[in-house]
Formats: sequence, C-alpha cells, structure tokens
Amino acid sequence: MKRITVLAGGIGGARFTRGLLSHLAVGYPAGSSVEVTVVANTGDDMWLNGLRVCPDLDTIMYTLGGSIEEEQGWGRAGESRRASAEIAAYGRGWDWFTLGDLDLGTHIVRSELLREGATLSEATQFLCRRWLPGVRLLPMSDQPVETHVRLAGDADEHAAGDLVHFEEWWVRYRAGVPAAGFVQVGLEAATAAPGVAEAILGADVVLIPPSNPVVSVGTILAVPGIRDAVRATTAPVVGVSPIIGGSAVRGMAEACLAAIGVEAGAAAVGLHYGARSAGGVLDGWLVDTVDADALVPLAEAGIRAAAVPLWMSDVPLTAALAAEALSLAGHPVPA
Ligand code: GDP
Ligand code: CA
Repeated sequence: MKRITVLAGGIGGARFTRGLLSHLAVGYPAGSSVEVTVVANTGDDMWLNGLRVCPDLDTIMYTLGGSIEEEQGWGRAGESRRASAEIAAYGRGWDWFTLGDLDLGTHIVRSELLREGATLSEATQFLCRRWLPGVRLLPMSDQPVETHVRLAGDADEHAAGDLVHFEEWWVRYRAGVPAAGFVQVGLEAATAAPGVAEAILGADVVLIPPSNPVVSVGTILAVPGIRDAVRATTAPVVGVSPIIGGSAVRGMAEACLAAIGVEAGAAAVGLHYGARSAGGVLDGWLVDTVDADALVPLAEAGIRAAAVPLWMSDVPLTAALAAEALSLAGHPVPA
C-alpha cells in the first residue's frame, strides 16, 4: 500500500491521522514511500478581525506538528490571550471566539499570503513548511465555502429562521439552540482544491476518520466533484464511527445529526453515509465494541463492519484503531 487519503474535520480527524502515522511508522519506517494525504474541511473557516481563520486545517497542522493544546484539542500549546483582550477592549470581534496570541501569528501570515494572491492550498503548504505535519495537507476547496446554521429558535439578537455562521452556533450557543438545517454558503461556485480528486481517485485506501458526519465530512463530500471521486475510486473506503454508545464522544455532534434527521447511533451514521454498492460512500465501517449490535443492520445494507475499541484516548490506542481501519480495508500494514 502506498497512498492513503483521509477526509478530515478538526479534532477527530487530526487525532485519527496522528494515530495512523504512528501505526504506519511501525510497518513503513522513515524513508519508505507511503504518502498520506489529508483533505480537510474548510466549512468552518471565517474572516475574523480581518484575518482568515481555518479551524480544522490548523487543528490538523498543530496536532501533527506537535504543538496542539492537547487537553483542549485545538489551538496552540502554551498559548496566551493578550491580543484578544485588547481586541475585546475595543469592542470588536467575537468575545466568545478567542484567538490566542501564538495562533494569531498563523492567521496573520495566512491572511497576508491570501491578500498577496496565494490560494488557500498554497498558503496551507507554506504554513506546513514550518509544522512538517508528515502528510500532504489539502483544503477541500480553494474557494470559500462557509457552513451557516438556520436557527430553529431565537438566540440573543438572532430570531428563528436567521442564518448564523457555524462557529457562532457551535461555540457561542454550544449548539444549544436547535438548528433547522445547514447551508454551505459558496458551495455552488466551489470546486475541489487542486490534487483533491486525484488523491481520492489514485488512493490505495480512503479513510473517513471519526469526524463530524454532518458539518465536517458532510461538507467535504458536498464540494462538487468530491463525492463523485469517493464513489468512483477503486480504493476501498473505510470510515470510523464518531458515535459511541449513542453519543458523540467529545463535542455536540448529536445536535448536527438531529438537524438533518439522523439518529445519533453508530449504525445510523454508517447507514447515513451508505454503502458504495448502494449509492453511498462506504465499503467498511468501524463501530465501537459497545455497538456490536450495529453489525447486522450494517451488513444487511452492504457495509462491511467490525466492532473494535474506538476511543482515541492516546496515540497508541489511536494507532491500534488506524490499524483496524486499514485491515478492514484489506490493506494491513506489514509489521
Ligand atoms: P471538529 O472539527 O474539531 O469538530 O472535529 P471533527 O469533525 O474531526 O470531529 C469531531 C467529532 O469526533 C466529535 O463530535 C466526536 O463525535 C468524534 N470524536 C472525538 N473524539 C473521539 C474518539 O476518541 N473516538 C471516536 N470514535 N470519536 C471521537
Ligand atoms: Ca470543525
């Protein structure tokens, strides 16, 4: 096996990929030719204080680059918040979405590159020269595609029916205001970033980590051309459930599933992605051992499933999970 392509959101995608790299290092020591490409969700991106902020790209870059704030799962380790306090003192920006001082350095450099005419792919490649994530990190698209949430209830200055940026709903309201649905602003004009369709079509294995199936993986798949590439690739496509025992392990992914009418269950999410043999995107799906009863309905739907521990509590456990995903794909790494 030579090429692995991962379709990733932020924290779940980043941690899974870190485990994957750790596992690959066992069978393919440094210098061997396995190439991992990560296609990242950019639907959470926004302009804030004049800066382009790309939460999922940065979570992946910092996690794989060894500078993530581990407990929190996003942002830089050893962060301070002096600049944000200054911005708040001017009454500007979002006081519920703090950007750390070190993190601001990244956003300033990225924004400068974009203003100079670089694409987001080029800016990401530039930032990765410093962080050396060990993967080829690609944004899903170079065009802005921003997930907005249609509120189903009132919240502060917003009324039911208003559209708010995903991060406002997620971080400010902790997904506590019901959502009527999601709108990907800019999607129609977007195309997959250079190399994305090729990375999927030319992969030996495509992996879908335990990322948010609606606003991370769902958004990536919605970019024109990406779902078609996943459907068309000759590589096996294996996903990992972000739901264990009926709830999202970390975060509030249930609220996103509720908004699109999908039950928060390991089987339900796998069936929502669907079998490739029946018009969906999966060949294989890993559920947690507590969700073993999901195996029968998944098999009936044409999805090869296995029940293994899905908690990514540390790197070795996550490496073992990545090994299970590769073996379900029929490509175990030589030990
Ligand atoms: P975000 O962009 O930072 O929200 O991250 P993602 O979209 O990549 O993934 C977030 C989702 O990952 C969470 O809502 C959880 O459902 C899932 N998740 C987080 N940690 C774990 C874990 O240890 N195991 C599994 N199976 N899923 C996890
Ligand atoms: Ca995200």
